[in-house]
Amino acid sequence: MNNPTTKQQVVGRFAPTPSGRMHAGNLFSALMAWLSVRSSGGRLVLRIEDLDPRAQDRHTAQVLMDDLEWLGLTWDEGPYYQSERGDIYLDALGRLRQEGLTYPCFCTRAELHAATAPHASDGTYIYQGTCRNLTPEEVAERLKRRPPATRLRVPMPADPHSSYSFVDKVYGLQSEVLASECGDFLVQRSDGVIAYQLAVVVDDGLMGVTEVVRGHDLLGSSARQMYLQDLLGFPHPAYAHVPLLIAPDGRRLSKRDADLDLGALKERFRRPEAIIGRLASLVGMAEPGEEVSADRLVGRFSWEAVAAHRGDIVASEEFLTK
Ligand code: GLU
Repeated sequence: MNNPTTKQQVVGRFAPTPSGRMHAGNLFSALMAWLSVRSSGGRLVLRIEDLDPRAQDRHTAQVLMDDLEWLGLTWDEGPYYQSERGDIYLDALGRLRQEGLTYPCFCTRAELHAATAPHASDGTYIYQGTCRNLTPEEVAERLKRRPPATRLRVPMPADPHSSYSFVDKVYGLQSEVLASECGDFLVQRSDGVIAYQLAVVVDDGLMGVTEVVRGHDLLGSSARQMYLQDLLGFPHPAYAHVPLLIAPDGRRLSKRDADLDLGALKERFRRPEAIIGRLASLVGMAEPGEEVSADRLVGRFSWEAVAAHRGDIVASEEFLTK
């Protein structure tokens, strides 16, 4: 018989894009995802997000996995490669299309990013629906000139389902009205590549993911993903977005910052415990300078501690010298 007090098992995931070596910011997100799952006795899935043909280098993916293992950040299922799951995404896209929820979009990059186009607070453009109501004749005419991307219709602001709210484990209550803050968004690029939003929702849904932990830069994607989860019949996972690490000059770290990628960090600190300790000390889970394994941090982890430090702007210099 089922024990009525049994809670649903937490299923988390690592979902790295193999576009380069992981840097301190990626490692910080990965450590938080790992600790959250391990501290609740859950399961972790590894998914390599190599949908973009420019990120399909298996060697880079292998280095990434070796790096995670070296740090002690183990997983229980996978790796899955998104580049091998194209049919699954096309199937979901077909369902959306059949329900009349998608339309072809012929707008060029230049049109979409024009200075006169409305932009959201994070700098991304808000799609104004230019191609939303093209007639079949107009579509046929445009098809002669260029292959279209595919957009998903979002509910109109008057629709009771137009707004999405959730409580992020780090950043608290979030709400977004898709129509005014994002607009109809891409589910397939004009070169045929499935858009991140669709692939991630299909994968998280089919892999049974209950908790999404990732960088703060993806906070604004969550409402779009919740909308897609509703359309495709998947439950909403819990969300935790973790602070990004900021370089001393105020830029956020990117994979181009070779001085803080794991290759450089390994040469500098040698032991995984030294790197894990530095990452943990950013959120008060280790003393400055303490060397500690990921395993030993499991008992110290809480989302409250991460939330308490979310406002800290962490300079890489501080990270390197502390
Ligand atoms: N693949 C994305 C990245 O590496 C993460 C996507 C996600 O966690 O939803 O930034």
